[in-house]
Amino acid sequence: MDRDVEVVVIGAGQAGLSTAHHLAREGFAPGTGFVVLDADARAGGAWQHRWPSLTLARTHHVHDLPGLPFPAAADDVPAAAAVPAYFADYEQTFGLPVRRPVRVRAVRRTGDDRFLVETSDGDWTAHAVVNATGTWTRPFVPRYPGQELFRGRQLHPVDYRGAEEFAGQSVVVVGGGASAVQLLGEIAEVADTTWVTRRPPVWREEPFGPEAGRAAVALVADAVREGRPPSSVVGVTGLVVTPWVRAARERGVLDRLPVFDRLTEDGVAWDDGRFVRADAVLWATGFRAALGHLAPLHLRGPGGGIRMAGTHVAGEPRVHLVGYGPSASTVGANRAGREAARELRRLLHPAAELPR
Ligand code: FAD
Repeated sequence: MDRDVEVVVIGAGQAGLSTAHHLAREGFAPGTGFVVLDADARAGGAWQHRWPSLTLARTHHVHDLPGLPFPAAADDVPAAAAVPAYFADYEQTFGLPVRRPVRVRAVRRTGDDRFLVETSDGDWTAHAVVNATGTWTRPFVPRYPGQELFRGRQLHPVDYRGAEEFAGQSVVVVGGGASAVQLLGEIAEVADTTWVTRRPPVWREEPFGPEAGRAAVALVADAVREGRPPSSVVGVTGLVVTPWVRAARERGVLDRLPVFDRLTEDGVAWDDGRFVRADAVLWATGFRAALGHLAPLHLRGPGGGIRMAGTHVAGEPRVHLVGYGPSASTVGANRAGREAARELRRLLHPAAELPR
């Protein structure tokens, strides 16, 4: 195995596979020119870990990877089964050099202007790095007073396996995003639920068109260009009212309260004297980009974010973040993978011919 390559791609989800596909098209040789290192034991990126009730029909649409259509599948197939099967087929069809399970622990600059990629399976060196590690491994739970006192269960959607385990319980769901709404709808079928969000949710009654999508992505792109941490896309798009959401709203499941002020031993409490007893608190409070292994590169600015110029870090054209900020969607990851591969070809193979 060649340990000294031109490009190391870290992560084999939608972003890493799209990048790998385009690197091959741009003339980088699989295995010697580039390699993809992935921490999971099998193909599928974060999709293999999604909760079982997240069926294909309930996703916001998983876009085809470049060059191979997603095979037809019934709407009720769990995404956690269908997407990994598709990704495995994709890797094989295009002969992508994915090494797994290989966890990248640190990326450092070397004295000779290269990168040292330290992993659970030895080191690689490269001229450039494309980071495509997503967010799933960095669930975010905010700090609230009394969290350590609460005797019930606290969990994040990454821990959720289905509503049945909450049957007959009282469950507080925190968070204003699409995951909170979906899980609330399911859990409310079998449990008493209370929904709390920091701000009143913004409902989007009409389907989400391409123009609104572009506007939302542009807002997140502005944030990362200015070096601010990327916001969630739902934060700027609002929550789409599907027929299923409308039914949940009519049942009163989506009546929300502002977030409580503290947790107690057996529930959550507000300073105005309100109290809700709880067996469980589900923190559907989002994710952060999984970038800890890039810390030795000191990419973060004073605002806590990373200033980006397109898909690469501003001032560092050899470090690309694909699936980060405005490209944190399946369609965005596809495009960003293509852009990163093109830029790396221009940078590392300036005399090469353009692919067809
Ligand atoms: P991931 O799929 O998370 O892949 C990252 C890969 O990197 C993983 O294989 C992981 O093992 C690997 N990795 C992580 N750290 C390391 C490391 N240190 N070393 C080596 N490998 C590492 N987007 C949509 O477009 N449509 C949807 O319907 C949709 N539904 C979503 C539902 C949920 C619940 C969530 C949380 C997100 C959803 N998204 C959706 C957004 C979605 O996360 C992205 O669209 C996309 O799937 C992310 O792809 P990715 O390749 O960036 O990351």
